[in-house]
Amino acid sequence: MDGSKYTSLMRLLIIEDEIRLNDIIKKGLVEGGFAVDQAYDGEEGQYLAGSESYDLIILDLMLPKINGIEICKNLRKKGNKTPIIILTAKSTTEDKITGLDSGADDYITKPFSFVELKSRVHALIRRSHQNPSPVLKVQGLILNPLSHVVTREKKQIKLTPKEFAILELLMRSEGEVTTRTKIIEHVWDYNFDVMSNIVDVLVVTLRKKINSGYENKLIKTVHGVGYII
Ligand code: CA
Repeated sequence: MDGSKYTSLMRLLIIEDEIRLNDIIKKGLVEGGFAVDQAYDGEEGQYLAGSESYDLIILDLMLPKINGIEICKNLRKKGNKTPIIILTAKSTTEDKITGLDSGADDYITKPFSFVELKSRVHALIRRSHQNPSPVLKVQGLILNPLSHVVTREKKQIKLTPKEFAILELLMRSEGEVTTRTKIIEHVWDYNFDVMSNIVDVLVVTLRKKINSGYENKLIKTVHGVGYII
C-alpha cells in the first residue's frame, strides 16, 4: 500500500473466538466498506496475520490455542507493524498496560458500541498512513517520526505506538504544557471517552521507559492540566 490512498479498499482481520461476535463485527465493517477476514482461534489468527497483508487487526485476548498477547508479541517480534486493536473483557489497568506493552496500538473493553469500534478503526488507519515529519530533539532525546525510532544518548528506547504518539506530541510543544485534552484529541479519535485514565497510564509507562537510568528526568506532570517536556 502506498499510504496516500486512504480511500482504497482496506483489508482487516478479526481474531475472535466468539463466533457470533466475530460475525457481527465483520458484518458492520463490511457495510462500512472494509474487506474482512476472520479467524476463530489464536493459531489460525496468528497464521493469517503473519501470511497476509492487513491494514488493521482486531484481536481478542482470551483465545484458544494462542492468546492475544502472545500473538501481538510474536507479530511485533517479527517486525509486523500492522495496527492492532485489542478487544478485551479484561478492564483493569494492569491488563491494559500488558496489552499496550505487547505492541498493540489501542484497545476496546467489552461490551463496546460498534460506533466506537468503527471510529477507533478509522483513527488508527488514518494515523498509520500519516505523512512523516523531521526528527525531533529535546536534550539527548531524539525521536524520528519516519523510522519510529526513539533514542536517548544514542541508546534506543522501545515504545508502543501510543507512547510514541504521545511523546511526539510533547516534543513538538517542548517547554509548553500539553493538556490531557490535546493529547486525547491528537492521539485518539474524537469519540474517545475523556474520563478514561489511559493517558495517565501511558505517560507513566512512557516516563519510565525514557527516564530509566538517567539523572535528568524528562516529562513533568502539571497537576490537573497535563504534561510538559
Ligand atoms: Ca474470547
